Amino acid sequence: MDYEDQLDRALEQSPEIASGGDRFEVPDPEVRPEGNVTVWENFEAVHDRLARDPDHLMRFLQSELGTSAQIDDRGRARFTGDFKQQRVADALEAYVEGFVTCSECGSPDTRLVDERGTTVLKCDACGAISSVPDI
Ligand SMILES: [Zn+2]
Repeated sequence: MDYEDQLDRALEQSPEIASGGDRFEVPDPEVRPEGNVTVWENFEAVHDRLARDPDHLMRFLQSELGTSAQIDDRGRARFTGDFKQQRVADALEAYVEGFVTCSECGSPDTRLVDERGTTVLKCDACGAISSVPDI
């Protein structure tokens, strides 16, 4: 890569740096077993950070983990069954990959929008529209 290209890249990247540019960090799921239920303590902080509908995230997680779940009155997610932290973290990562991160530019600055009856992921950073997995 020559200097011109590097300069172009630097210029392309600068708007991100100007707008804060901090890396997109999703809180690690804090889970603990409670009888035959797995309680996800910081579920609210996670869907807040993702700026996604908690019900949508829950629908995905139930399908991914193959169990039933509910959100309790303190905003925690409760999954039927014993799930290790790593398993929950993997499911969350799959969600972020499929429904949050732009497949074109990698930005998390995206929204799920309805296009002619189909849900698509629209990126506010680069304007790309990409399809999302079926839940
Ligand atoms: Zn994008």
